[in-house]
Amino acid sequence: MQTAPLALIQHAIAEAAHGRPPVRLLAVSKTRPATAIAALADQGQAAFGENYVQEAAGKIAALADRGLEWHLIGHLQSNKAELAAQLFDWVQSVDRVKLVAALARYRPAARGPLNVLIQVNIDDEDSKHGCLPHQIEALALAIAAAPQLRLRGLMAIPAPHPEAGRRRAAFAGMRALFDELATRHPAVDTLSMGMSDDFALAIAEGATMVRVGTALFGQRPSP
Ligand SMILES: *Cc1c(COP(=O)(O)O)cnc(C)c1O
Repeated sequence: MQTAPLALIQHAIAEAAHGRPPVRLLAVSKTRPATAIAALADQGQAAFGENYVQEAAGKIAALADRGLEWHLIGHLQSNKAELAAQLFDWVQSVDRVKLVAALARYRPAARGPLNVLIQVNIDDEDSKHGCLPHQIEALALAIAAAPQLRLRGLMAIPAPHPEAGRRRAAFAGMRALFDELATRHPAVDTLSMGMSDDFALAIAEGATMVRVGTALFGQRPSP
């Protein structure tokens, strides 16, 4: 019998977490067709991550009857906030107050609060996305003040350092920021970090959610 990659990844996640509360697997489905997502949903995977609002819209509509949970993990432009607030269950890439206001304004009341993670730029000097550590609390207060949003925690995409030690340090830094946030906002429960190449390392440093694309679906076609 052929082992499904989903079961392998779930096993690796459970191994890395040994004993700690379950770590959630977000299947990153950018560039993948709705049929590939449906195949994974058939195996029990319920949470999917998309990077682009427009690309996600068609898949979310096509799979509307499947009861899936959709996370936006890519950079969100303010002019896409309205659509994002309507379509997604989670937005993991909130990194500025202006976006908080737009998401709160456009979240349909019937959908209930939108789950939000603050994206932190922990160590990637080449990236313009993510807030700086000292900006987390102002964002957290803005989110906490919006009843249309629910602050769930932090997300990071550390720089892809070849040395595992550098990546481990970034994950550990995120864990410290998360623990600090939790002292002021006790309801936060999610630290989203770790991808196909390093999810075990991220879990060892305290990730509660890992975002895995390539290891589940295979290599993405190069652009
Ligand atoms: C593409 C992407 C992932 C998944 O990366 P893989 O290496 O394919 O597992 C995770 N998080 C974000 C923000 C991404 O853009």
